[in-house]
Amino acid sequence: MDVLPERHRVARNSPLAERLDKLRERVAEASIRAKRDPAEITLVAVTKTAAPEEIRELLSLGVHDLGENRPQQLIQRATQLQELATRRSQYAESAPPPEKVRWHMIGHLQRNKAKPLLPLVNLVHSLDSLRLAEELDAQAAKIERRIPVLMQINASEESQKSGVAVGAAIHLAEQIDSMPHLQFTGLMTMAELTDDESKIRNAFSRTRELFEEMKWHKIGGANLRHLSMGMSGDFELAIAEGATMLRIGSLLFGGRADADDAEEEDA
Ligand SMILES: *Cc1c(COP(=O)(O)O)cnc(C)c1O
Repeated sequence: MDVLPERHRVARNSPLAERLDKLRERVAEASIRAKRDPAEITLVAVTKTAAPEEIRELLSLGVHDLGENRPQQLIQRATQLQELATRRSQYAESAPPPEKVRWHMIGHLQRNKAKPLLPLVNLVHSLDSLRLAEELDAQAAKIERRIPVLMQINASEESQKSGVAVGAAIHLAEQIDSMPHLQFTGLMTMAELTDDESKIRNAFSRTRELFEEMKWHKIGGANLRHLSMGMSGDFELAIAEGATMLRIGSLLFGGRADADDAEEEDA
């Protein structure tokens, strides 16, 4: 995670800034316990319950990775921020350059949403089928981009959950890796919502083992470097199991948004 510049730390004491500070402390502590460098862990702030002004504040606090689980919402928020940046640069020549935002698509993605989404997105975490991969590859070709993607793994093997079954993951990874306009960058998983820590840890460690197996097979080459796992309730366990990206929503913005409700909405 980016180290917080000193100047942010002294002057800011809004509730959001305090929650972010606290979170960064916990990430640092969990990293130290796991004998890892906190600098290798990226915080993705999941903004689905955030107010627009909270998003702007977060950017000013140095968090530039933002995630949404619904395509429509990501498109809307990304467009709003772009418009704001354009207005600012038009009316205030001396304004500081707009903060660079990296948008992460973390929720279930339907193929018909790929086209409007892709120009705005920096990393898709939720690639979960060959058909979706083919659609993303085709749409990325049209805009002449190579889109970084993570494959979502259903490591807890809950039947209602999206994600690729552990046993099918290697084969699909090889197929994705051969697509010219996708860059296979790693794996994502969501653990079960449970108080049973061993179940959560198990889902994370299975995903890490799969990741290591892919490395061993040289799938993705040097690009294979991300494990997106860990949310507000379980990120410390995820860090212990090797997560490089945390997706944190409610700890920053409050509210307990349903993590996997995108499917009904988009259907
Ligand atoms: C909402 C969501 C998160 C964040 O969950 P919190 O528990 O609020 O931190 C992470 N990942 C996905 C896929 C989500 O939909």
